[in-house]
Amino acid sequence: ADAIAAIRSGMTETPDFPSEGILFRDLSGLFADAAGLRTVASALVEGFGPIDAVAGVEARGFVLGAAAAVASGNGMLAVRKAGKLPGEVLNESYALEYGSASLEVHPSTLPQGARVVIVDDVLATGGTLTATIRLMERAGWDVVGVAVVLELVDLGGRAVVEAVTSAPVKALL
Ligand code: IMP
Repeated sequence: ADAIAAIRSGMTETPDFPSEGILFRDLSGLFADAAGLRTVASALVEGFGPIDAVAGVEARGFVLGAAAAVASGNGMLAVRKAGKLPGEVLNESYALEYGSASLEVHPSTLPQGARVVIVDDVLATGGTLTATIRLMERAGWDVVGVAVVLELVDLGGRAVVEAVTSAPVKALL
């Protein structure tokens, strides 16, 4: 209940951003709220059992993922947009609610079999989280949970994500 109150008070909704017809939810206010960020970060990683790392998706998932990692006594895996990581990387392309992109990780960042919870701000169509789950699996890591602050239920992303993992998908709001 605390987490939900913090999300509601720290969220803005802007119509037609970044393009016509999109109602954009922004959590900058939540990120700037010390108590709210702590509460939400803890709630995101709660209830998945033992984990070895929190994976955060660039860029807003970095804020939440790092906070959730510290809150749960874990390190954070940065799931990066393409072209930012040096060396040999794994790459997955995906479609966004607006546009398309691809994500990368370095497969040696975590040991094989590491139990990972994936964190992001918003679940919309599910493309981002689906690509992230595929990356984790290709790297040899075990996705034990997926957690977002906001799920845009009308876009149906949960079913898309649940089609590629048996791990629980948690949305705080
Ligand atoms: P999906 O791949 O369609 O599920 O979109 C989720 C990704 O797009 C996440 O990484 C979000 O950060 C971003 N996203 C989609 N819709 C919104 C929004 O309304 N506010 C903020 N981010 C959004």
